[in-house]
Amino acid sequence: MARKFFVGGNWKCNGTAEEVKKIVNTLNEAQVPSQDVVEVVVSPPYVFLPLVKSTLRSDFFVAAQNCWVKKGGAYTGEVSAEMLVNLDIPWVILGHSERRAILNESNEFVGDKVAYALAQGLKVIACVGETLEEREAGSTMDVVAAQTKAIAERVSNWSNVVIAYEPVWAIGTGKVASPAQAQEVHDELRKWLAKNVSADVAATTRIIYGGSVNGGNCKELGGQADVDGFLVGGASLKPEFIDIIKAAEVKKSA
Ligand code: PEP
Repeated sequence: MARKFFVGGNWKCNGTAEEVKKIVNTLNEAQVPSQDVVEVVVSPPYVFLPLVKSTLRSDFFVAAQNCWVKKGGAYTGEVSAEMLVNLDIPWVILGHSERRAILNESNEFVGDKVAYALAQGLKVIACVGETLEEREAGSTMDVVAAQTKAIAERVSNWSNVVIAYEPVWAIGTGKVASPAQAQEVHDELRKWLAKNVSADVAATTRIIYGGSVNGGNCKELGGQADVDGFLVGGASLKPEFIDIIKAAEVKKSA
């Protein structure tokens, strides 16, 4: 089964209401490949989710950037998966490296969040990736496998999961992974899924790349056999996000 190209835009903790409206306008006016070629999901900060959801074109979808690990209640400052479902927010990004590093989210905590969000009916973009130190120590695949294992141990149905491979050294640094580096990890991750989950999950789960993707490097990266799309940070706030969405065409002509 073909894996539909997926382009996510992670707006992180950026934007005013005015800026958000401008980005939505740019997206709404853009000519992009049809929904059977590419799935587009943008992830504004929580407070802008209702605004974006109500104004964004209907062929693009929204994601939250995080959600709480269990049912809501006395967890000041958190937003529950149930609340996202209640607002009809279909997607959530979990395990982003900024949350793993700055907020100390462990592999197990991220795994618990993924399982809980899926159980509530959300679709999940689950992020994994190694630091530069870990890459230089030759442990990239051990790190990524451990992060994925903590998810796999808690999840049985993978149909609503997209894995985002985001090497930490490439996020927000302008140092994009080479197409060969990205392909190598995506291929290894798919083999890990085949061995530890199932051949079917390995063949159908989308593994997207994130880390300094831009309008200039997206086509070559997207042309790699196991790169099924992107999670885009900085460039998702700019008009070049449209070019990144259009990179989905490389798979059509492949
Ligand atoms: C991200 O935050 O997920 C990301 C990939 O950021 P950037 O594209 O800015 O490197």
